[in-house]
Amino acid sequence: MTTTSSTILPAELEDLVALFEVSRTDAPTSDEEREASLQAPKFGTVFTDHMARITWRAADGWVDRRVEPYGPLQLDPATAVLHYAQEIFEGLKAYKHADGSVWTFRPDANAARFARSAHRLALPALTVDDFVGSLAALVRTDVSWVPSGEDSSLYLRPFMYASEPFLGVRPSAEVEYLVIASPVGPYFAGGVKPVSIWVAEDYHRAGPGGTGAAKCGGNYAASLLPQVEAQKNGFDQVCFLDAVEDKYLEELGGMNVFVVKADGSVHTPELTGSILEGVTRSSILQLVADRGHEVVERRIPLAELVKGLASGEVAEVFACGTAAVVTPVGRLAGSTFDHAVGGGGAGELTMAVRAELTDIQYGRAADRHGWMRRLA
Ligand SMILES: *Cc1c(COP(=O)(O)O)cnc(C)c1O
Repeated sequence: MTTTSSTILPAELEDLVALFEVSRTDAPTSDEEREASLQAPKFGTVFTDHMARITWRAADGWVDRRVEPYGPLQLDPATAVLHYAQEIFEGLKAYKHADGSVWTFRPDANAARFARSAHRLALPALTVDDFVGSLAALVRTDVSWVPSGEDSSLYLRPFMYASEPFLGVRPSAEVEYLVIASPVGPYFAGGVKPVSIWVAEDYHRAGPGGTGAAKCGGNYAASLLPQVEAQKNGFDQVCFLDAVEDKYLEELGGMNVFVVKADGSVHTPELTGSILEGVTRSSILQLVADRGHEVVERRIPLAELVKGLASGEVAEVFACGTAAVVTPVGRLAGSTFDHAVGGGGAGELTMAVRAELTDIQYGRAADRHGWMRRLA
């Protein structure tokens, strides 16, 4: 993934938004109710008044760009996605800056990944223009829902699914693309807290030639049981190893992973095709390189990590993704090992990178890589 800046100019964004026909709800949430849910939003439980939508039919391509009232979808019981999981999604955030303007972070990167995921799932590609245009159209319609509290944002969830009622096994000839939005507060209520991680032994997330590099619901379905079992054993998250040799670190169910050595070098698993190419991952690689750290994308053997934790050669481990940004790892365990990471607290570089990235996202620091895109 490149770190080049957005290619859509502000004037072009106006034209893209204008393609969306807006029909407003006649039962909007009251100001009091909205303000109450913006005070302490719980992740993914409250949604704004509208959703953006585009329909695809094999014969017509993408048609009917619109913003319409948020509400249930009516699905025929034979709808293909319910049977064969032909579905992909994205996750990004809209941030309110001090002057009231609303921005998002590297949407072109999410749009490009969405197109790659679509290709792998035999879904039609949506253009970067339609992807970014749909985000801006929805955010402008529901701009009063973007929270202004510290570390609060409007989480944007674009997704696409096979909507054709048909039980035959082939790519759907009808597809719906939607964007819904949910106000979210700080991921860590009461301050960043290191998480504990269990390394999965009996399960893998993805294998060679599979869908591991695509952001699809099926990958998440497969990660739920290992996650539940890790939690039963008292751990917060599960980390998966590669499916071929069962030896190399891959990632968590929904976050990429980084290892910081005492010598200051920063390591992360290389993209082998079964790891999701995180936008946060790629941004952090850039930020730590900017700080002068040696950055290494390579296969990281679990055995090497365990040894490094025991000897002190490994100083910090963290996970990253859009929702939590950067999560320090305080403990890493499997059936044959159990180590505190760097004394169990949050690592210094971990917290510095977290602060730097969120400062850029919230407009408190210069956007020197051109990552921010104004939506409203
Ligand atoms: C979305 C996701 C990530 C994180 O990607 P970001 O673009 O940084 O949000 C990591 N791993 C998996 C499996 C994911 O689905």
